[in-house]
Amino acid sequence: MKKTSFLSKQADSLQPSGIRRFFDLAAQMEDVISLGVGEPDFVTPWSFIEHSFHALEQGYTSYTENAGMLDLREEISNYLLGSFGVNYDAEKEIIVTVGASQAIDLALRATVNPGEEVLVVEPGFVAYVPTVSLAGGTPVTIQTRPEDDFKLTPELLEAAITPRTKAIILCNPNNPTGAALTRNELEKVAGVVEKHDLLVLSDEIYAELTYEDVHTSFPAIENMKERTVLISGFSKAFAMTGWRLGYATGPEEIIQTMVKIHQFTMMCAPTIAQHAALEAMKNGKSSVDYMIKSYKQRRNFIVSSLNEMGLSCPNPGGAFYAFPSIRETGLSSADFAEELLQEEQVAVVPGNVFGESGEGFVRCSYATSLKQLDEAMRRIKRFVDRRI
Ligand code: PMP
Repeated sequence: MKKTSFLSKQADSLQPSGIRRFFDLAAQMEDVISLGVGEPDFVTPWSFIEHSFHALEQGYTSYTENAGMLDLREEISNYLLGSFGVNYDAEKEIIVTVGASQAIDLALRATVNPGEEVLVVEPGFVAYVPTVSLAGGTPVTIQTRPEDDFKLTPELLEAAITPRTKAIILCNPNNPTGAALTRNELEKVAGVVEKHDLLVLSDEIYAELTYEDVHTSFPAIENMKERTVLISGFSKAFAMTGWRLGYATGPEEIIQTMVKIHQFTMMCAPTIAQHAALEAMKNGKSSVDYMIKSYKQRRNFIVSSLNEMGLSCPNPGGAFYAFPSIRETGLSSADFAEELLQEEQVAVVPGNVFGESGEGFVRCSYATSLKQLDEAMRRIKRFVDRRI
């Protein structure tokens, strides 16, 4: 009989994602409107799909170069220059990955030594803390405040830095709060980053989905390119979550080390998805613009509905999430989400799964049709009216 657990201590100590647990519950119920999952309701634009069909017909069914097809890297390079004014060498400074998820994992594994601290801004994407730990680093969280619209301030950053701090993960626009930092706000953060010689992993997967200001890419800020790994991908703005395709750009030394790990652990990102992405980069602008317009309309609707029913909700500058306060109801965010699901069959994500400062808030994704959002708002209002 087996006497011991075969699991590694590190893997065994990982906590399952709070989002998943919730959605397993919702999946067992009927007539649920989900404002939960962070993925577009749009199907991938047809021309991207068609392009991948053609690639298959032409026999592109083998591995690609480890770093991704060179013509795709060239298109990514052109796209980043044209859209955000950041200039990367396609041959040396870009890697195509299996989603932004793998880009985050590779960037951390390529740079973090045991015992080094990596700052994670919360409320934040649920994968950052576990991936820092799996890379051998020590995650140190920074709790942003509702009174700052959950934006990272130079003071909060400065207070979290120790002699062991190696890097910070920034997510702009942010999941789950939708907060989008302006150029001026990013410049202030950059001042602290430079003073303490930090590396920045800048997750900009929602870069295209901004509704107020034009997105500022972190490496576009003076002196930041040499210390930034930019992480992005096709899942969100291009409605390609299932294709599993992302990328990272940055200093050659870091990107090439990521390629080294990638070639032993993944070989390359899926070939068929790379062909679809090629079309997305070349000709995707009008499809993306159409989706952005639609998200903006939904954002305006959901934010005004939530405020009208008494759930205070600042206007998120980007991504496709609203992050209203539910404090008026007197419920914890977990109880709010659970009771809302049971009583009105609407799924939202309790804010505390994104970090302690998320308590008192819930995340509502508006990547769902206006019709569904309208019905969801009706149900949430009924629920809130019984509590306030
Ligand atoms: N970063 C953030 C902030 C995200 O919200 C997500 C997806 N929820 C990812 C990265 C991962 O995206 P991908 O599908 O490209 O792996």
